Amino acid sequence: MLWRKSFRWTLKRLNCFLKTNYYVEPRYTLKLDASWSPIEIIDSFKGFNMCYTGRANVVLNYSDDFFPAVIVLKNYVRCSFMSYACNRKNVIWRDKNTCQYCKIRFSSSELTMDHVVPKSRGGEKAWTNIVACCKQCNNRKGDKTPEEARMPLVKIPRVPHWTIHILLRDKEIPEEWLDFI
Ligand SMILES: [Zn+2]
Repeated sequence: MLWRKSFRWTLKRLNCFLKTNYYVEPRYTLKLDASWSPIEIIDSFKGFNMCYTGRANVVLNYSDDFFPAVIVLKNYVRCSFMSYACNRKNVIWRDKNTCQYCKIRFSSSELTMDHVVPKSRGGEKAWTNIVACCKQCNNRKGDKTPEEARMPLVKIPRVPHWTIHILLRDKEIPEEWLDFI
């Protein structure tokens, strides 16, 4: 996406004219579906881009910034509130950087995703079948189930319940969002 890269570069150059702190501290935009339910928190640049390309409308801009605080999609998207992808980053976060077999904490780069019921046995890539696992345990477990490998799980994997507070972790909720969440 060369145009986007060059657009970012231009924005950076124009930072002082555009009244934005985006490049000092990235901001986030609350995305609403067409029925005005919050569905996702996205990078403000992406939020701006969605409005610029006509896929969404700005509901509210940040009072001290150029980027939108809240946007609403033009097309109706049926989506459960704040559902999140079962990917490596999210699984590691749900399992608090802890290997679910040996119970030791690792840095994110040292952890992999393990299929509890192996893929080769029909185990799917779902929140309830994926856990964070260190490389050593992953090798040890191989293509076995926890019972076969005699490696019991620390806890049963569940679908995490996300809230905006958890999602933002230690960041503050912008006051511009309060009417919409
Ligand atoms: Zn381990």
